[in-house]
Amino acid sequence: MRSSLVMWTLLALCSPATRAEWILREQAIMGTRCAVELWAADRARADALANTAFAEMRRVDRLMSTYRADSELSQLNDSAADGPVAIGKELFDLIGQSLDYSRLTEGAFDVTYASVGYLYDYRGHHRPNPQQIAAARPGIDYRHVILLPDRAAIRYTRKGTRVDLGGIAKGYAVDRAIEVLRAAGVTRAMVNAGGDTRLIGDRFGKPWVVGVRDPNDRGKVILRIPLTETAISTSGDYERYFDEGGVRYHHILDPRTGDSARLLRSATVIASTATRTDALSTSVFVMGAQRG
Ligand code: ADP
Ligand code: MG
Repeated sequence: MRSSLVMWTLLALCSPATRAEWILREQAIMGTRCAVELWAADRARADALANTAFAEMRRVDRLMSTYRADSELSQLNDSAADGPVAIGKELFDLIGQSLDYSRLTEGAFDVTYASVGYLYDYRGHHRPNPQQIAAARPGIDYRHVILLPDRAAIRYTRKGTRVDLGGIAKGYAVDRAIEVLRAAGVTRAMVNAGGDTRLIGDRFGKPWVVGVRDPNDRGKVILRIPLTETAISTSGDYERYFDEGGVRYHHILDPRTGDSARLLRSATVIASTATRTDALSTSVFVMGAQRG
């Protein structure tokens, strides 16, 4: 009797509005399903924090999406082959980091992949023919992108070159969302955008558990990895693709051929930031298990 009385009193004290708890929220951003899970003092605060994280990811998308004609990146692509274009520090720095990853991976990671990449339409099952690839492929070369740090400007040395940050911007958006949460005092959180995840802290002595999809069955998880305070990304050939004549045409291109990379089905990288794991999972996917 007594213990149940104590329990009811406790429940009454912990009304839903004031009880500290985990919340999990999802939103579609950057053409993908994004999730924020976090621990906060009460539900209203947790919801507000999740919304701030999503807003930050939307801000990054508005800056860097090539699906938006008015994004800063689209404007850069429109005119950088005609001469230097001054851009904000954030985009300048992320393109600078992308070029660092190109040097590190000997060109396997290359944000100018889009010079050929835009000829594919995975939803419409359309791919360029070999002549079209051959004509556009010289546009792929990160060395065509020239940083002018003293003017905070970028120019492209070749007409037809274009930059797409699809291989790194989601990871960057996840990192930004994590920074926003950390600055607000959050000590336990998970932020995910498609294949990119970053974690703050743990789950009260227990690790977070991040799943890796089975490339043969997207609905299944082939691996569950326990992690704390780190970032993890997976790149796979099952995200955006179509099959034709027994060959899979998918969204990760080998810059040397302009064709989809086919050494691996899936690559997972764990490192301290999601910007890094995003760029490197795409890179390792292209390079294969040994070189990668
Ligand atoms: P997802 O976008 O499915 O999470 P990835 O992180 O592996 O998968 O990124 C794939 C995206 O990276 C492609 O949709 C494209 O925008 C871009 N991309 C494709 N090939 C390359 C490449 N060789 N170097 C850099 N980015 C690439
Ligand atoms: Mg990636």
